[in-house]
Amino acid sequence: MADLGHGLSGAAVVGAGWAGLAAAVTLAEQGARVTVFEASRSLGGRARRVSIDGADLDNGQHVLIGAYRETLRLMRKVGADPDELLLRLPLELRYADGFHLRAPRLPYPLNLLAALFCARKLAFSEARAAMRFLVSLRVRNFRVVPDRSVTRLLDEHSQTGALRTHVWEPLCVSALNTPVACASAQIFVNVLRDGLTGARAASDLLIARTDLGRLFPGPAAEYVKAHGGAVELGTPVRRVARVPGGFRLNDAHTFSCVVIACGPHQAGQLLVQLSALDEALSAINAFAYEPIVTCYLKYPESVSLPAPMLGFSGGIAQWVFDRGRLGGPKGLLAAVISASGAHEQLTKEELTARIGIELKAALGELPSPQWSQVITEKRATFSSTPSLARPEAFTAIRGLVLAGDYVASGYPGTLEAAVRSGIAAATAVGKN
Ligand SMILES: Cc1cc2nc3c(=O)[nH]c(=O)nc-3n(C[C@H](O)[C@H](O)[C@H](O)COP(=O)(O)OP(=O)(O)OC[C@H]3O[C@@H](n4cnc5c(N)ncnc54)[C@H](O)[C@@H]3O)c2cc1C
Repeated sequence: MADLGHGLSGAAVVGAGWAGLAAAVTLAEQGARVTVFEASRSLGGRARRVSIDGADLDNGQHVLIGAYRETLRLMRKVGADPDELLLRLPLELRYADGFHLRAPRLPYPLNLLAALFCARKLAFSEARAAMRFLVSLRVRNFRVVPDRSVTRLLDEHSQTGALRTHVWEPLCVSALNTPVACASAQIFVNVLRDGLTGARAASDLLIARTDLGRLFPGPAAEYVKAHGGAVELGTPVRRVARVPGGFRLNDAHTFSCVVIACGPHQAGQLLVQLSALDEALSAINAFAYEPIVTCYLKYPESVSLPAPMLGFSGGIAQWVFDRGRLGGPKGLLAAVISASGAHEQLTKEELTARIGIELKAALGELPSPQWSQVITEKRATFSSTPSLARPEAFTAIRGLVLAGDYVASGYPGTLEAAVRSGIAAATAVGKN
């Protein structure tokens, strides 16, 4: 058994989302005996497989980008080949209304210049304003001081027209899952820095050709088991108590160290039991949350989109994915609505009907869907607001660390933020 820094042997990870599994894989790799406790019966947390009408689908359509370096590295480590499991497309924003921006496979910044100046329905002046904006951010070293809303940032840099409605605002809402009027400009700029202004491949869109479970959670759990660890599904951790030399979970199992990798509100319920964690708790208690809705519509097999991912503007749907073109059942479309908004007032039936009408307007006459399913994740992510205080991974308690997409970092609530925090927590737990 490896010594993780201060005589540790067994490590517990609470939560088998992407953060918890990233922590568990990293700990197992370091030689620790890891036990992962997961409250639900499935792996993956907010990015998990669900079974609908006999098909393996996701609780919500996810998109990765080439800049998700650590996620891709860990996928490879656990034997999930990103080249096989993910469709890699150069950055492309294609809308049902004809707007079309596509980055060619050229090095940065040529890829961006070509994408902006050759985009359909983007005025030359808007393309020029976009380049000025990016140059100005670079000159300021991508720092926005003081932090402000994305709306204000875009106003200050005169980002108007289709550039705003079809590029920056949808990118912000998709990446930060927060309405532009209250989204953090600094976090948005970090996303632009890593995604758009780095190596060309960083801006690639990576869309799963399989369900989310096979992408990382399943192979990660197998990796942990193959390294002598255990993954306990359907086992919520309700109590965490400090005992000499470590922690006791649920009054039963004792571990030298614990990674709490639950969602923020769930982590808060555990932290409240431990004294000395007031700072982390008050940060978590101040969080607001944003929903994401995924509406699956199953049409006859002949129905497909002109691209795997199509943007919609001015209606309810934001992005619609053709799961048939992504290895799923033919004719299955997944419409995504990120962040809070007017759609929250609609019933599931009204929402499905409205999206059906928007699809008809874009694709022409369509038969009625054979079935539909709306999945609403009410707390899909924390709201990425300006200057938000986020808890650190290290806690005041030795051997206890936090992991999750919400833990302090420059990233919004994403898979990459979750994975990075899991790796960081596993590395830190033997040292704090
Ligand atoms: C619909 C939707 C769409 C999204 N789209 C994207 C996208 O396109 N791209 C992207 O990068 N990100 C996207 N995200 C965000 C991404 O899914 C999350 O950032 C990420 O999954 C968070 O992982 P996590 O491990 O931090 O937390 P979670 O996934 O919440 O994992 C926490 C786990 O802990 C378990 N747990 C909680 N309490 C306990 C307990 N007491 N005992 C044991 N287990 C417990 C939970 O059951 C859960 O499995 C999306 C999220 C949603 C919901």
